[in-house]
Amino acid sequence: MSEWNKLIPKPRSSFVRVKCPKCGNEQLIFSNAVNKVTCNVCSAVLAEPTGGRAKLKGDVQSVFE
Ligand SMILES: [Zn+2]
Repeated sequence: MSEWNKLIPKPRSSFVRVKCPKCGNEQLIFSNAVNKVTCNVCSAVLAEPTGGRAKLKGDVQSVFE
């Protein structure tokens, strides 16, 4: 059993609440974002498109499917 070693399961698409690493603002973003997502407060990049799932920059607080 390596439960702790598992990453977040891969939903096809979902919203994730990400905490901005810079200012701590929590923002809901789409995990399959095709555009760069920036923080509403400080404009730090929170997610970058990678051709599939977005690469998240901040801490994921929760996932909504
Ligand atoms: Zn921010």
